[in-house]
Amino acid sequence: MKFCSHCGSSRLEFRVPEGDTLPRYVCAACATIHYQNPKVVVGCLPVWEDQVLLCKRAIEPRLGLWTLPAGFLENAETLAAGALRETVEEANARVEIGDLYTVISLPHINQIYVMFRARLLDLNFAPGPESLEVCLFDEEHVPWDRLAFRTIARTLRNYYLDRKLGEFPVHVSALEKRPVREPSLVASG
Ligand SMILES: [Zn+2]
Repeated sequence: MKFCSHCGSSRLEFRVPEGDTLPRYVCAACATIHYQNPKVVVGCLPVWEDQVLLCKRAIEPRLGLWTLPAGFLENAETLAAGALRETVEEANARVEIGDLYTVISLPHINQIYVMFRARLLDLNFAPGPESLEVCLFDEEHVPWDRLAFRTIARTLRNYYLDRKLGEFPVHVSALEKRPVREPSLVASG
């Protein structure tokens, strides 16, 4: 943060405000405290018979990889409305948003994923500007090695396991930073 979004001053200090526990950007000119909090990514898992709808990304990050329709929740929007909007934007698909399904915390990138199950209402879907392709996949043909995000892979894996069991409880979990691969040992001397 370079300028105060309230008064435009560049006199920002990064310090712990009185009575707080974490450092924040505090404007020395107008005293506004700029809190920064996680963003919510909301989406759904649209199902048609035994198939799920996936979108191939036309944008970075992970261009060319497959994902479920999802995106950042907007201000003044409910979670279900956000999931519905993202599904229209990315797949031009009409869905009925169902039960809450996965909630995944990503503390290392300050995001929370919230995914709903959904029923695809018709087959008149088509890629939106953020998608290259939109397709239905049955379990065997899900492009498991070409999924864009671990949150999406986890949501789909949960879904196929739960479908076998016939129950779809809410799954609350977290994904930590992907561990760095250990450097290969180099012989000394
Ligand atoms: Zn200010």
